[in-house]
Amino acid sequence: MKKAFASMVFLTAGLTVFAFGLLTGGSTAAASPGGGSAEPSATPAKTKRATAAERELALTDGEFDGKELIRSDAEWRRELSGPAFYVLRQEGTERPYTSPLNDVKKDGTFYCEACGLALFSSKAKFDSGTGWPSFYEPIFKKNVREKIDRSLDEERIEIECARCHSHLGHVFDDGPEPTGLRYCMNGVAMRFRATK
Ligand SMILES: [Zn+2]
Repeated sequence: MKKAFASMVFLTAGLTVFAFGLLTGGSTAAASPGGGSAEPSATPAKTKRATAAERELALTDGEFDGKELIRSDAEWRRELSGPAFYVLRQEGTERPYTSPLNDVKKDGTFYCEACGLALFSSKAKFDSGTGWPSFYEPIFKKNVREKIDRSLDEERIEIECARCHSHLGHVFDDGPEPTGLRYCMNGVAMRFRATK
C-alpha cells in the first residue's frame, strides 16, 4: 500500500512536471514570433500598411458651423479602425510614442479622424516630450469642446471634437506661450494634411 502511494506521488509529480513543461514550452513558442523588441521603430512596415489602409475622409476647413454630426457607436464601429474607435468613441488613450503624427514637422492641419473637422494647425504644434502630439491652441476655439473628466483621481479637462463629440485627448495648463496650454492629443484620433 505504501509502495503504491509512493508511486502515485511519483506519477503525479511526473505529470505535473510534464504539464508544466508543456505550458512553459507553449508560452515561449507563442511569445517568440512577435515578441522581443516591440519598439515602434522596429516595425516600419506596419506604419506603411496603416497609411495604405487609411479610409476616405472628407476634410472640413475653417471654423465649426455648429451643425453637429451625431452617429451611433455601431455606425462608428463600421467606419473606424479598432484603435481609432477605442480612442475616439471609448475615450481610450494610445500608447505614447506610437503615433507617426508625433514627428510631423510640415506645415498643415490636423483633422478629426472620425468626422474630418479641422482641429489644430501645425503652427501651434510643439514638442512636449510626452510622446503624444501636442498643441498650444486649437485652430478655432469653436472646433473643440471641453468636458470635465473625473476618471482618474485628479480632475482633468477632456477635449472632444465639437462636431461629432469624439474624444481627442486632454488639455493641461503647463504648455508654452502664448497660451500656456498643452492640448495633449491622441495621434490615432487625428488625420494630418500638409499645406500644398
Ligand atoms: Zn469629429
